[in-house]
Amino acid sequence: MSKRDYYEVLGVERGVSEAELKKAYRRLAMKHHPDRNPDDKASEDKFKEANEAYEVLSDASKRAAYDQYGHAGVDQSMGGGHPGGGANFSDIFGDVFSDFFGGAAGGRGGRGGAQRGSDLRYTLELGLEEAVRGTSVTIRVPTLVNCKTCAGSGAKKGTSPVTCTTCGGIGQVRMQQGFFSVQQTCPRCHGNGKMITDPCGSCHGHGRVEEHKTLSVKVPAGVDTGDRIRLSGEGEAGAMGGPAGDLYVVVNVREHAIFQRDGKHLYCEVPISFADAALGGELEVPTLDGRVKLKIPEGTQTGKLFRLRGKGVAPVRGGGAGDLMCRVAVETPVHLDRRQRELLEEFRQSLAVDSSHSPKANGWFEGVKRFFGDL
Ligand SMILES: [Zn+2]
Ligand SMILES: [Zn+2]
Repeated sequence: MSKRDYYEVLGVERGVSEAELKKAYRRLAMKHHPDRNPDDKASEDKFKEANEAYEVLSDASKRAAYDQYGHAGVDQSMGGGHPGGGANFSDIFGDVFSDFFGGAAGGRGGRGGAQRGSDLRYTLELGLEEAVRGTSVTIRVPTLVNCKTCAGSGAKKGTSPVTCTTCGGIGQVRMQQGFFSVQQTCPRCHGNGKMITDPCGSCHGHGRVEEHKTLSVKVPAGVDTGDRIRLSGEGEAGAMGGPAGDLYVVVNVREHAIFQRDGKHLYCEVPISFADAALGGELEVPTLDGRVKLKIPEGTQTGKLFRLRGKGVAPVRGGGAGDLMCRVAVETPVHLDRRQRELLEEFRQSLAVDSSHSPKANGWFEGVKRFFGDL
């Protein structure tokens, strides 16, 4: 299976800035999120693909490794070893990743047989209000923990793993292939260097068992889709006494009924009556802290943006709160009664006298005239 280029996956150029990268990722994540595309395998794959690409490219050191070596620079997948296939891990832990620079040193190929546990990822769905204000949530994650019976060794009580006889404890074997001699991970001990002659009954020699862990996660105020919260040591238990991996809680902010978020700014659309738009007036507009009054000047056109400073989101990385942008949309009145019709009819006639009341329409008709004149 060949992987697509990460930049191509996110639809960005190689030299793209971090901010642009995040934007591109967010757009894809929103579009292909499993919650919005239930039972859609293609979307799920795209979602995972985008996650993986962003995971790498958003990390400066991984991005550098990827730029230089391509997928080979970052694919140190340590996740191949779930006992029994780990089918029930597939959904929330779509991809298991490892730190290329940090974690790999103690990982596969280490001589002592100890392997750092895999990092896990958990997607946390949040409402906009929770994301903006911060919250505490309790999550339940399936993970691998050290087997209590054998204390993680995988060997039956009273016995201990012995040095692998196939590789002599090195974890690697040399295979002759034609002219070449190729080094491979030892098929017997899978690189551990040790093998278990008398496996533990509780974990069948794996040293780890599946368990659900309940964790409390503090979500700081201002988080946004794609932000990660790292819970150090809460990933899978390491094999053969290795250190546990980390759990990454990845935030996904649900769409809001009223507000659209773009970084620290919020947008909303506010309907206003035709009369308020023409005469000016005061509107009640929603903010995350309740309603506020907004003065609309006379002659307000539909689509006009009004900025409420500081009513956006205070970013999680610090800095001042963004703004709330209210876009007014003039609503055409419907279900008019007779009296209202008469008034409007009269009003229409009063406009016909002089065209200065509709500057936009005038400009438009002028343009149309010129267009046909040029033909
Ligand atoms: Zn055990
Ligand atoms: Zn071996």
